[in-house]
Amino acid sequence: MKLYNTLSRNIEEFKPIDAERVKVYTCGPTVYSFAHVGNFTSYIYWDLLVRTLALNGYKVERVLNITDVGHLTSDADEGEDKMEKGAKREGKTVWEVAEMYTNDYLKNFRALNMVEPSRICRATDFIKEDMALVDVLEEKGYLYDTTDGLYFDTSKFPTYADFAHLDLDHLKAGARVDFNSEKKNVSDFAVWKWIRDDEDHAMQWEYRGRMGYPGWHLECATIIHEKLGEPIDIHCGGVDHIPVHHTNEIAEIEAAYGKKMANYWLHNNFITIDGEKISKSIGNVYYFEDLKERGYSHMDYKMWVLQGHFQSERNFSFNDLNAAKQRLLNYRNFAALRWQKDATDLNSVRDAVMRQLNNNMNSAGAFAEIDKAINVNVPDEEFVKFLDDAFGLGILDSTPDISDDLKEKITERAKAKNERDFVKADTLRDEIAREGIVLLDSVDGSIWQYIK
Ligand code: AMP
Ligand code: ZN
Repeated sequence: MKLYNTLSRNIEEFKPIDAERVKVYTCGPTVYSFAHVGNFTSYIYWDLLVRTLALNGYKVERVLNITDVGHLTSDADEGEDKMEKGAKREGKTVWEVAEMYTNDYLKNFRALNMVEPSRICRATDFIKEDMALVDVLEEKGYLYDTTDGLYFDTSKFPTYADFAHLDLDHLKAGARVDFNSEKKNVSDFAVWKWIRDDEDHAMQWEYRGRMGYPGWHLECATIIHEKLGEPIDIHCGGVDHIPVHHTNEIAEIEAAYGKKMANYWLHNNFITIDGEKISKSIGNVYYFEDLKERGYSHMDYKMWVLQGHFQSERNFSFNDLNAAKQRLLNYRNFAALRWQKDATDLNSVRDAVMRQLNNNMNSAGAFAEIDKAINVNVPDEEFVKFLDDAFGLGILDSTPDISDDLKEKITERAKAKNERDFVKADTLRDEIAREGIVLLDSVDGSIWQYIK
């Protein structure tokens, strides 16, 4: 299995630390507002990763975090806490906001038929452990205190710039000087924030006799250390995480424990919508509710995402979503053939699909292999299950056999056609269509297909 590793900027053969327990960590959502469809692209690709690993025989232990504290509106320790902002906007407590959007996120996660993570960890459940990590960093001399919080001195971590190929001199030249002038280096970041006297911050914990809360990056470092143990095999997130969030997670873990954080780093690219960056002001922010109103399901969207590659920047349009919906319907109708004809041997197709997936998760290539096969083959239950294991498109469950009553009508219609009673045949065909089934006639009889 080959994966593009951001660490080396190369496609590498995946070698697990322990095949019985491949440790995967995926940075999760900040639960301060509804997640839009763009936010879910990464989780769909990481679902494909988990599924591909499992199909290769690995046992996957995947941890997903929920950021319910400490993520500021700017990645660089500036701006408001996203959670506090969400609470003010909605006149709710931060805890209520976290609960509501966590539930909404998980509802969509499950509607997308994603493999349930082994653990879902809320940042606020790891505050004591966060403090323990801050203590270690402090003891090892990486931190300094400022009025804003405890900062990580990145000049003491010589490999700081390596992961993101940062040009620190260039960063320095472009840095804002009006924010926290006590910072020693532009790239220094808060591991723990102090609450100012004038600050209204609902989530706060006492640490060293003062009230404060963890910096954003700390939760991932802590949860990985506590629940998986560094080094992990694969760490995933959006490309926007490379220069700040992941760079800082690495600094925290590797400085504290002297061990590599992860052997492979996977980053998904962004999607645009109708050629524009997703933005509230442009009005192109879509949620699953919006897709549903236009007749598209979670599975249609998942199909659209999987038609692309996780590293490609992609443009979303309803035209393309419609094409994805059609392709999914084609796959379901292929699956429906298992009720109607004898299965053919699809082992070579299965191998071809696996080769594509093992080639840096080329799901688009895998779909091309399936497209080639579906017009001349009939799957058995096992092959349909393989497709579901690979892509999680819920094909097996969404392709039930038709009722005996419908089968009888299909036989009757064939008989009527044979007897050239076209009025009766057409009436029966219309009745069958009302049940969501269309009949395709060919020289060797007719087959039924789902209309939607
Ligand atoms: P946000 O809540 O806007 O900070 O987004 C949370 C995460 O969702 C980001 O860190 C990105 O990794 C991901 N994300 C946001 N917008 C997009 C997009 N247009 N396409 C893909 N991923 C996105
Ligand atoms: Zn993270």
